[in-house]
Amino acid sequence: MIDTLRLTAEEAMGLLKSKEVSPRELWDAYRAAIEERDEELHCFLSLVDRPEGDGVPIALKDVIGTKGIETTAGSKILKGYVPVFDSTVAARVKQARLPVLGKTNLDEFAMGSSTENSGFGPTHNPWDLTRVPGGSGGGSAAAVAAGLAPWALGSDTGGSIKQPASLCGIVGLRPTYGTVSRHGIVALASSLDQVGPTTKTVRDCALLYRVIAGRDPLDSTTAEVPPVEIPEAEDLDGVRIGVPPELNEAEGIEPGVRENVERAIELCLELGAETVEVSLPRSVEYGVPCYYLIQPAEASSNLARYDGVRYGLRVGDGTYHDMVERTRDAGFGDEPKRRIMLGAYALSAGYYEAFYGQAQKVRTVIADEHRAAFEQVDVLVSPTSPTVAFPLGAKTQDPLAMYLSDLLTIPSNMAGLPGLSIPCGLSQGLPVGFQIIGPQFAENTLFRVGHALERALEFDYVPERLR
Ligand code: GLN
Repeated sequence: MIDTLRLTAEEAMGLLKSKEVSPRELWDAYRAAIEERDEELHCFLSLVDRPEGDGVPIALKDVIGTKGIETTAGSKILKGYVPVFDSTVAARVKQARLPVLGKTNLDEFAMGSSTENSGFGPTHNPWDLTRVPGGSGGGSAAAVAAGLAPWALGSDTGGSIKQPASLCGIVGLRPTYGTVSRHGIVALASSLDQVGPTTKTVRDCALLYRVIAGRDPLDSTTAEVPPVEIPEAEDLDGVRIGVPPELNEAEGIEPGVRENVERAIELCLELGAETVEVSLPRSVEYGVPCYYLIQPAEASSNLARYDGVRYGLRVGDGTYHDMVERTRDAGFGDEPKRRIMLGAYALSAGYYEAFYGQAQKVRTVIADEHRAAFEQVDVLVSPTSPTVAFPLGAKTQDPLAMYLSDLLTIPSNMAGLPGLSIPCGLSQGLPVGFQIIGPQFAENTLFRVGHALERALEFDYVPERLR
């Protein structure tokens, strides 16, 4: 009997290697878990019938283009779109012989923090079905937390891997910008998007990152990546940790979240780390406003291609303009429409410098502040999300409240930096995430710190109601 709720991807690899379990048995165990639990959770938008590959199965967020498998980005405008080629990430997953279980739910075009903006209905949090799993990658995070997939891939523009990992009590890595190819990924904001792993443990995270990372001739923004080290050390000797007050004492951080994070920082010290005082005076204050100029600007440009001609949905058969208008009206939900308008406005001739140009300058300030901090510390730490998982519907009428879910994940994303979220405890019976941010290409440091802390924390990632 395979317990998919507990089994890590690394343990699953061990079972395959020792031939205690066949690839087919492993696949069937996850398929059975999906049968049993996905009706109430709604993690998957589509399932693959037969395993392709004899490795540990994987789930992919539905922004990851997969040859022959419908790829919708959670939007009705892409319903029925079946890519004719694999994204580089999907190709690497195949090369590693990991069979794809299916494609997971998300906020439409990865715009959101709760998966409620999906064009196909929300995903539910496995810890409490009345609550959101976070977003945009709620489907991938909930699938791993509920044992429907041993590991999964997501994408993170402003926090869409880290925040759902936090709300679902699992591990998520948003890699350094440029380490993972964006070729064949449905683009949200090209200067921010990055694909990364969602897993139960930090070692699983490193193992999966190793599969997907590295330069890709098909994406000129990718770089050579230092060899990925699978973490082993259980101490933090010599690690210098910065606890910027702006990220740790920001308005809106729940007391229960703060307590758990403070306890995790104390554990770091017990493990041999030292804390150094650093601050990010402007990054947190300006992060979200700056993000909501740059991100919609790039999104409005990227979403211009959905015209009823090239992909998926087409509505109406009148003139070209009439058809495009009707297709975009019917195909896009409220959030993409909101951002297309905001972005087009920010990019319009008379306002380009005042909004987009200015936001780019602020982005440089944010990057500089982080660079200065990393002259003194190896990692920065904070809560991942200011809150634990919130009830479905709590923020859907208030986009600004929803945007603040990413208050603590956006600043380092704007600076192109990697961030790891690991669960560090429970507040109100719901998981709290601990964010570890590093300088560019410091994924190995994040894995080392995350792994040692994970060992010391002994957090049980199986949702209480499923134990
Ligand atoms: N919640 C943020 C947004 O709505 C981030 C989403 C993401 O990282 N894709 O844009």
